[in-house]
Amino acid sequence: MKTVDVAVIGAGPGGYVTAVRAAQLGFSVALIEKEKTLGGTCLNWGCIPSKALLDSSELFHQAQHQFEVHGIQVSKPKIDFKQMMTRKEDVVSSTVKGIDYLVKKNKITKISGTAQFQDANTLVVTNGKEEERVQATHIIVATGSDVASLPSVPFDGKRIISSREALELKKVPEHMIVIGGGVIGVEIGSVYARLGAKVSVVEYMPRLIPTMDEELGRQLAKSLKKLNISTYVNTKVESATVNKNKVKVLATGPQEKALELEGDYVLVAIGRRAYTDGLGLDKLGIELDQQGRIPVNDKFESSVKGVYAIGDVIQGPMLAHKASEEGVACIEYIAGQHPHYDPNLVPGVVYTWPEIASVGPSEEDLKRDGRAYKKGSFPFKASGRARASEESEGFVKVLADEKTDEILGVHMFGPRAADMISEAVVAMTYRASAEDIGMMMHAHPTFTEAIKEAALMATDKRPIHI
Ligand code: FAD
Ligand code: NAD
Repeated sequence: MKTVDVAVIGAGPGGYVTAVRAAQLGFSVALIEKEKTLGGTCLNWGCIPSKALLDSSELFHQAQHQFEVHGIQVSKPKIDFKQMMTRKEDVVSSTVKGIDYLVKKNKITKISGTAQFQDANTLVVTNGKEEERVQATHIIVATGSDVASLPSVPFDGKRIISSREALELKKVPEHMIVIGGGVIGVEIGSVYARLGAKVSVVEYMPRLIPTMDEELGRQLAKSLKKLNISTYVNTKVESATVNKNKVKVLATGPQEKALELEGDYVLVAIGRRAYTDGLGLDKLGIELDQQGRIPVNDKFESSVKGVYAIGDVIQGPMLAHKASEEGVACIEYIAGQHPHYDPNLVPGVVYTWPEIASVGPSEEDLKRDGRAYKKGSFPFKASGRARASEESEGFVKVLADEKTDEILGVHMFGPRAADMISEAVVAMTYRASAEDIGMMMHAHPTFTEAIKEAALMATDKRPIHI
């Protein structure tokens, strides 16, 4: 029996960050993980490998389509897919080794195995035939999420695959059919389209990335078209049939129009479900919500004293940084501190190129809530930095309160949006007005000047460069 102050179940970006912060606060900590490596979905099969392939494929795309305009002549670039995948694996393995280092450095007890609750303060951890008991005053569940399956298109792991297999293919597909035009669909679809595959995205809702601001989805569809990605919105997949190395997908589009697609892979990316399998939460009397998530209050406490939950396994967007911030806030509350965590300021990024980034409500959200707002939008084609880089597609949109000018939401489609959104998060954390951003000096020439211009546009329609 091991006795610790804090036991964390799951070593994803939620769990390992919680464990490190707990150790910093002076708690004795056990971190329990059922997989061979630490890092969870994000480091092993999610954020990191997908971004590694997104970067490699974007470089290939640039070499093919952009070098020439910059005056760079290269012989026709070729793909060494095996090397591209090896690099991705090297990035993943060095990143997960980094987590092992952090665990050791912070004197966290790492336990390998699957944890199950015996009672609110005791876990049984099983690893093969061995069993170990861990007793803890506080137990934090950070068990994350797993892929959601589509009953009419069951996974076979070979031709009908999830993001995990899609990031581990042995060769570039000829035609990848993606079911779900959300974040995974458009990111992995972009990777293979850039590498030369035909990609078709079938989305149930009227537009791609339907949870984000409508203008972003519309611009994205136009941009993906240039990459030779076909998108079918308002389309319901009925079935997928595997025949040797091919899969045939039957779907129904707008006005009941039948759609038939044949490809070599079907990637099902219709969302993820909270993962609580085998935890034994029922023994504690914890009831899951309708989406199978663990209900918690704003201090991440479950209905049972001493048991907490954070990350993908609770409500809110399924994002790595959200999981980490919740873990830090949760353990700081346990330590009696007063952490700052604002669930309304979780930035969302889509790593297509151009990138998409958002924080705060969309225009549709504001309209639905009846909130009076002002809007300022600035196109990258009016930015000197963007033109110098041949990256003038997209815009920055700032939404501000009609009366007070407080920034309510910022939505971007454009070069380096993933990094630029932090300026909006800082501004909104300190409840800045659009005028505040408009008055701040931004270095020239930078992409961030587009944020200043959009803010000037929102505050009193006085951008300089349009
Ligand atoms: P997870 O990372 O899922 O970790 C949970 C861990 O708990 C797992 O390691 C699991 O093995 C372990 N576990 C579960 N049950 C038990 C048990 N009973 N005992 C012991 N261990 C257990 N998010 C971003 O913010 N940016 C991105 O760019 C991004 N890209 C993504 C790309 C893909 C393809 C995917 C699939 C996801 C991506 N995400 C991204 C989402 C991100 O991966 C998740 O939001 C994040 O990993 C959630 O962290 P978590 O710690 O809550 O859960
Ligand atoms: P998602 O929720 O982003 O997108 C799923 C899409 O599938 C939605 O557009 C939905 O309307 C559509 N859909 C649902 N059922 C369908 C059906 N039967 N037929 C056709 N379309 C259908 O989910 P995802 O793309 O699977 O990603 C899972 C999670 O991982 C997301 O919550 C996301 O936040 C996270 N993730 C984040 C990043 C990032 O931050 N860059 C990258 C990848 C994944």
